[in-house]
Amino acid sequence: MHINSSTARQLDIELPSPIQAFTPDWAGAEHVSIHIKRDDLIHPVVSGNKWRKLSAVFSDTTSLPREIVSFGGGYSNHLHALGYCCNKLKIPMTALVRGDYTKQPTPMLNDLTRWGVSIQYVTKLEYNRRHEDDYLNALRQTYPAATIIPEGGSQQLALSGVQQILCETPQEFDIVISPVASGATLAGLITALRPEQRAIGIAVLKGVGYLESLVEQFLPEDDRRDWCIEHHFHHGGYAKSSESLTAFIQTTQAQYQLPLEPVYSGKLFYALKTLIADNYFTKGTKILVLHTGGLQSARNALCSNR
Ligand SMILES: *Cc1c(COP(=O)(O)O)cnc(C)c1O
Repeated sequence: MHINSSTARQLDIELPSPIQAFTPDWAGAEHVSIHIKRDDLIHPVVSGNKWRKLSAVFSDTTSLPREIVSFGGGYSNHLHALGYCCNKLKIPMTALVRGDYTKQPTPMLNDLTRWGVSIQYVTKLEYNRRHEDDYLNALRQTYPAATIIPEGGSQQLALSGVQQILCETPQEFDIVISPVASGATLAGLITALRPEQRAIGIAVLKGVGYLESLVEQFLPEDDRRDWCIEHHFHHGGYAKSSESLTAFIQTTQAQYQLPLEPVYSGKLFYALKTLIADNYFTKGTKILVLHTGGLQSARNALCSNR
C-alpha cells in the first residue's frame, strides 16, 4: 500500500529498490549465494530503512501530520530523513537533539537548519526521558498539534513499511540479514518472513538481551518465526570503529563498488564475511543482505566520539 503512495512519488523515492547478486572472493563465499537489497539507492538524501519506517506516517496524502516532533543524536539518519521529508512536504518540524552542538553543528544538523527544522538541544538527562509518559505528555502540551515520532522512527506503525522490503523481493532466500540498533527494522523483516525463512540481526552496539527485548516489543505474542541477533560485530559500541573495520570498508568499497559507512552497513558486511568464513551458514544457503543506507553519516570522517 505504501509502496506507490503519492507522497513517495512527491519525494522522488524510487521503489522498489534494486536487488544485486554479490559474488565476493571471500573465503567460503563460493558455498553460499548472496543478493543485496540496495535500499541505500532509493533516494540520494533519504536513508533507506528510515524512509521505510516513516512511510506509514506519510502514506495518506489527505491527512499528513500538521506538525512533527522527533528525537535523535547529532548524526541521526532518522532526523535527517525526516527533516528532508518535512521540508519537501511543508510540514513544520522540531528536532530534539541529544547534547549541545551550538558551537560545532554536524553536517547533518546543518542540513536540518537549511531545511527549516527547528533544533532544540536537550541535555542527556532530558533525552533519556524520551520514552516516559510524563515527559511525552508535557511535550504534547508544548506542541499540541504535533505528531511525536520516537527516536529512529521506531514504533509499531513503522513495521508495515519495512515489511514492504520483503514483499518487493521476488528472489527466493533462506536468510535475511540486517543491522540492528533500535529494533524496528529487524522486527519488520521478521514479521514478513515465511515459516522456513530466518532473519539475523547484526548488533551495531553493545546490547546482549537489550536488543532482543527491543525487537520483541514489536512482535506479536507467541510469534514463532525464526530469528536471532549476533553480538560479536559492534567493534566497541555504537558508532565506534576498529582498525580492522576501517580497513575492511576501504577494501570492500574499492573492490566491489559498494558504498559502506562504519556505523551500520560496514559492520553488517564485516559480519557477513566473518560468518561465511566460519561456516556459520550451511552449504547452499541463499542469503539476502539488506543494505539499509545511512551514507550521509559517512560525511563525518571522525565518528568515534558521539
Ligand atoms: C537506523 C539505522 C539502522 C538500524 O535500524 P533500527 O530499526 O534502528 O534497528 C540500520 N541501518 C541504518 C543505515 C540506519 O540508519
